[in-house]
Amino acid sequence: MSVGMTAESSLYEIVGDLVVFRSLSPVDPQIPGYDQAWAEMGMPGPERPRKQDPAFARALAWFLRRGRALNGVRTQLTELIYLGDTALADGNAFRNVRAAGGWRGWAFIAAERDETLAVDIREGIFHANRWNALAEFAGWLLAEGAALDARTAVIVDIDKTALGARGRNDTAIDRARVAAIEATVADAVGEAFDRDTFRRAYTAIIPARYHPFTTDNQDYVAYICLMISAGFIALEELLRQVETGELASFADFIGRVDARQDALPDAALRALHREIYGLVQAGDATPFKAFRRREYIETVSRMGCLPDDAPLGQRLVEEICLTREVFDFTRWLAGRGCLLMAVSDKPDEASLPTPELVAQGYLPLHRTRTHVVGQPLADLLPGS
Ligand SMILES: [Mg+2]
Repeated sequence: MSVGMTAESSLYEIVGDLVVFRSLSPVDPQIPGYDQAWAEMGMPGPERPRKQDPAFARALAWFLRRGRALNGVRTQLTELIYLGDTALADGNAFRNVRAAGGWRGWAFIAAERDETLAVDIREGIFHANRWNALAEFAGWLLAEGAALDARTAVIVDIDKTALGARGRNDTAIDRARVAAIEATVADAVGEAFDRDTFRRAYTAIIPARYHPFTTDNQDYVAYICLMISAGFIALEELLRQVETGELASFADFIGRVDARQDALPDAALRALHREIYGLVQAGDATPFKAFRRREYIETVSRMGCLPDDAPLGQRLVEEICLTREVFDFTRWLAGRGCLLMAVSDKPDEASLPTPELVAQGYLPLHRTRTHVVGQPLADLLPGS
């Protein structure tokens, strides 16, 4: 297979501003966000659902209908195409949105592995081990009788699908996040920061066996690394308490820090703790705002960052690229009149610049340009 690099582009060139991050507030100002429209959506209250919830899918279906109706288009949506990289999460989201819309639908889920093409089709979901299988997916959709026109809604997952293709370029996304956690902790701890202590702590608490404690929430992971780096508790002691059940949950841990704030080395750390603690108490799932704002910077600074002639191997490790196959496939669908929407589970703070950064020229994630890497599909798609 030829994985090639072409010029730079952005998600915006595929989906415009029809982009939804975790807050369920479409970037396009013509479509009201969850905060304003929850009652109209038929939701019980303003509390935003998470990706796994059927209510999340109902909101996405509502945004798609509103998106279709922009500019006076009267066509009703009847079918859904969903592109993602994670069998469980994206598979569930696809089934939930299809059910919420009352549509028929098909999904494509891929992770690149260095093998010959293997495809597994189950209950309308086309699982593949290569992103270039989108060409076969297109043929299959037409054989299934998909209209692929103005009646078709298309959801494109952003993380590790449209950007940073899973199995090919996804570690670049992970590196941005780890760099953000490390830089945030280093800033907060100041001169006392010790990189080895931080890295040992981070590596020790991310395995799945500690997910009951961290709930795999990266804000919690970052906060725990901060407290270890600040000397509030030693890594070994924390792990011992988690293993013995003395520390039952993250809420338990941050509560103990709150009760012993005097043990924190300085006023700035105490203030940072109090900010995070307050947001945790308020039910915010992304309470470590400084980390998430840093994640935005570390992410966009890895987009379009290498020169055009950088070696492909280096690019796939260091640069977060657009996935050529997804780019070509979605452009093909757009050319047929389908409605496209990009969805990300990233918090808005990790996806959109602050006003200060806007003034410095920073752009939202979906408008940030980067190289488009992968196999060109344009000539392989039906009718091209
Ligand atoms: Mg994804």
